[in-house]
This record gives sequence, C-alpha cells and structure tokens, in this order.
Amino acid sequence: MQGLMMDRALTIHSILDYAERNHGQREIVSVTADNPCHRYTYSDAFARTKQLANALSSLGARMGDRIGTLAWNDHRHFEIYYASSCNGMVCHTINPRLFEQQLIYIINHAEDKVLFTDPAFIPLLEQLATKLDELPILVVLSDKANMPKSGSLKLICYETLLEGESPQIDWPDFGEDTAAALCYTSGTTGNPKGVLFSHRSTLLHAYAVALPDVFNLSTRDSVLPVVPMFHACAWGIPYAAPLVGAKLVFPGPKMADGATLHNLMESEQVTLALGVPTVWLALLDYLRINDLKLTTLNRTVVGGAACPSSIMDEFRETFGVTTHHAWGMTELSPLGTLNSPNSEWSELNTEQRAQQRLKQGRGICGINLKIVDENNNELPWDGVAFGALKVRGPWVCSDYFKLESESSAHHADGWFDTGDVASIDEQGFLKIVDRSKDLIKSGGEWISSVELENIAMTHPGVQEAAVIGIADEKWTERPLLVVVPKNGADVDTSDLLMHFDGKIAKWSIPEKALLVAELPHTATGKISKMQLRQQVKSG
Ligand code: AMP
Repeated sequence: MQGLMMDRALTIHSILDYAERNHGQREIVSVTADNPCHRYTYSDAFARTKQLANALSSLGARMGDRIGTLAWNDHRHFEIYYASSCNGMVCHTINPRLFEQQLIYIINHAEDKVLFTDPAFIPLLEQLATKLDELPILVVLSDKANMPKSGSLKLICYETLLEGESPQIDWPDFGEDTAAALCYTSGTTGNPKGVLFSHRSTLLHAYAVALPDVFNLSTRDSVLPVVPMFHACAWGIPYAAPLVGAKLVFPGPKMADGATLHNLMESEQVTLALGVPTVWLALLDYLRINDLKLTTLNRTVVGGAACPSSIMDEFRETFGVTTHHAWGMTELSPLGTLNSPNSEWSELNTEQRAQQRLKQGRGICGINLKIVDENNNELPWDGVAFGALKVRGPWVCSDYFKLESESSAHHADGWFDTGDVASIDEQGFLKIVDRSKDLIKSGGEWISSVELENIAMTHPGVQEAAVIGIADEKWTERPLLVVVPKNGADVDTSDLLMHFDGKIAKWSIPEKALLVAELPHTATGKISKMQLRQQVKSG
C-alpha cells in the first residue's frame, strides 16, 4: 500500500524559499577582495540570486550546464551556489590550489560553460587559457571599480552582469534527482574524480547536519565556515545555515589569517566555526601569541583529517570551546560521522573521556557504516577489530561523473569503499585507524600513523607532526616521525622519541625523527603524505 502524502520534490529551492520568507533579515557578512566587510541579508542575497539566475540564462547557460567557480568563501559565491542549482544548472566548485595539470583536466572534463573567478585568479586563468579545450565565459567576482585588466582574456564584471536583470524568476520545474553541484576529489593516483551531488542528496544532507548531535544548528547561531566552499561545499554549511536561518560569516581570501578570523569571530559573535586541523593550529598560535580570548564561540567542528588532542585541549581549557571531531569525504557530501557525547560519558573518567572525544563519532542517521576484513566479512563493533570502512546512504555517491574506467570503490554489493581503515565501538563511535595506504606494516603488525601523530602532538614543542612508513630490511616497514617545532621551541629528536615511552606498545615507537621547517600540504590543507614520502626518499 502506498502512503498518501504529497509528492513534492526535495530540491534546494525549498531552502531558498524558506530562508527568504522566515529569516529574510538574518545577515550574511563577507570579506571580499573589494570590500573588507560586506554585509547584507538573506532577502538581499536571494533577490540577487534570482538576478544572477536570469543573467546566466542571458549568457546562454541552459539546464544541465556546468557553472564553474574559482572562488573563496563569500556572498557572491553563495549567490552562484543557488542561482545555478535552482536554475537547473550544476554549480562546479574548483579548488584553485590544485596543480595546473589537475585544473586543466577538471575544467575540460566538466566542460564548464561559465566560470566565475575571484580577481586574484586571473593570472592563473591567463596561464591555463590556451591549454583548455574550450574557454568558458569568464565572470570576475568584483565591482566595476576594482575590475582587473587582462591582456588576453575577455572578462565580464559580476556586478555589471547583475545590473538590469530582474529579481523575479519562475524557476524551472525538475525532479529531485537532478544534479545540483559538482566537486572533484583529487586522489593520489590517476585523474581527479567528479562527485555529482543531486538536489535530493544536498537537501537531505543539509537536514542531517543541522541535527542537535551533528552541527546543532539554529537561527541563534552565527556560523563561520573556514572550510572552503570548494571543499565539498564547505561541508554543507551554505545550505544548512539558511535551512535554519543561522547568520553566515565568510572569511573570503583571508581564510588562513589569524587576525581576520579572530576579528570576525568577535565582531560577528560567531558561535560555530568549522575547518581542517591546520587552520585551527594557525588560529590557536595567533591567539596564544597575542594573548586573545574568544568570547562568543562555543564550538568548533574539526574534520578532513584526524584532529590531534592538543587542539581539542587548548580550545577547551584556554577558550572554553568544545571541539567536535567529524569524519567525511567528498563522496559523502561530505559528512558521515560526528562526535558528540552520549549519556554514558558521564560514567567515564577524564582519560576515558579524552580517548572517546578523539574518535570521529557516530554515524548520522541515513548513513550506514560497516567494517570488513580482507574477505569482505563484516567485523564486530567492539572497538578493537579494525578493517576497511564501507558506507551507504542517500548522500553517498553511487558513481563518479563521466568516469572513463570503472571505479573500484563502488562494488556490486551497494556499499562504497571509503579507502579508510577503522574500528567501531559498542556505542557506534567510529575511530579512523588510518587511510589504508598510510597504515604501516611492521614485523607483521599494523601501526597507525594517526595514533603516533596524536601522541607527538601532545609534546609541548611540537607544532605539526606526520608519521610515514619507510622501508626496512628486517621489519618490512618502520615508522618515521617528521616534526615541525613550535615557534622558538628548543626541540631535540631523542627527547621527542622518548615522549612516546609508556604511551604506546614499545615495538610501534619510531626509532627516527626528523625536524623540518614545514610539512607539505594538499590543496585542501591536509598533510600530504605522498609528497612527504617523496621528499624523504629524495633526501
Ligand atoms: P576529502 O574527500 O578530500 O574530504 O577526503 C576524505 C578523506 O579525509 C577521508 O577518506 C579520510 O581519509 C580523511 N578524513 C576526513 N575526516 C577525517 C578525520 N576526522 N580523521 C581522519 N581522517 C579524516
């Protein structure tokens, strides 16, 4: 028997309609290249969104066309998200930090019809232009007064494009499975792969992340996504914030600037900020050096890479801010799990609670998790057994966009193989042991690089740490610790290695450590172990 409920498509328009009607006066504040503090409301934003949607049609963009963005987090990028998707087009966010070859591949593969770019990326586009199969129509995210010049490219000014366009629109009618956004993930081998989010998956993900035990979002929040809008749609914040009417604060090109982040947090009364661990290391450093406080921030969400306990401890003890560890992947829109305490935690002692906090958290309702051994047999949720992590759910990608060859991550059994290795405890808390290719096999035993890094980060002189496996004749592989010392700290390698004593099994403690001025990072701000391995190999 069928239910008797209205068949209304789950599309992104519903977020726009809701926020416009119910939270029209909530603010969106942005730092942009042409304005250090742009301020307007959801009403203003969505009126301009409709002007932009009309402008896209005037430029000749049609349903299904990819609309590229090379842009930081700001209000114009937000407008493009909605104008393209609600118009039946696909918002294709591009990570400007990728290598030139990857950018060329991605833009060619996506066949972007229009490309919106921040002024700062014009020199990059001038370099890429001749190598692209077809040059998209280029629109610069700027006002007229600050338009950059280009000798070789024809550039349209964003604000001029909007002028004269109507803020009225009849959105086209389409189904909830229509593609809404596209984001490429850059694996360590092969070409980047496109994850194509639908309206349905985006809306369901937005509802899910707003839940109390996930981002716990409400209209009383002021949210600062430091995670870029080109990194898995800033973890869904541009959709989830208007879905509850939360204020949005965008740091623009100043993502990595401690002073800007602190100023925004204080002046805009930010309550929630989200980002990868590297960003928080930089901010905490800045706060420490300048003896500053955070008066309104009450929680951060840290994900994209394992969050060291040192970040959680400093946020909590010095600033009274709770850190929630989250795990996800672009392929999961991106959120899969988030760590928030359950009632059983009240029975844990301080050390047990600290261990539990470090885990990546429980699966969100809608996402199924399982861990399997090498024969695909499911392993128990006992907090001890670990194996390949597989997931499925309505916001998990079922295939990659226009992939030339079959993806081994999608198997016939309907589960997506994440490439991560994990354990899950009796209460459902996931612990990422490692990326499968980063696990170290030594004397037949597995060593988790993540666990060693966590311990290294508790040393008072360590700013950042990475552990990689290096070939060893006797043991196959041994862990090598690579450390960036804190500014001015007098760190010595034997002291660093002694720091592991008593904290982990003796055989898994590294024998060697290197001190370096900096570690290589990926385009999304994570430590690049692939590059680090190459650097160590080449001495
Ligand atoms: P991306 O698609 O670029 O966001 O990368 C996803 C990958 O980042 C995952 O498969 C994990 O290997 C890693 N990752 C994300 N969040 C965490 C976390 N909290 N702890 C450890 N690894 C993480």
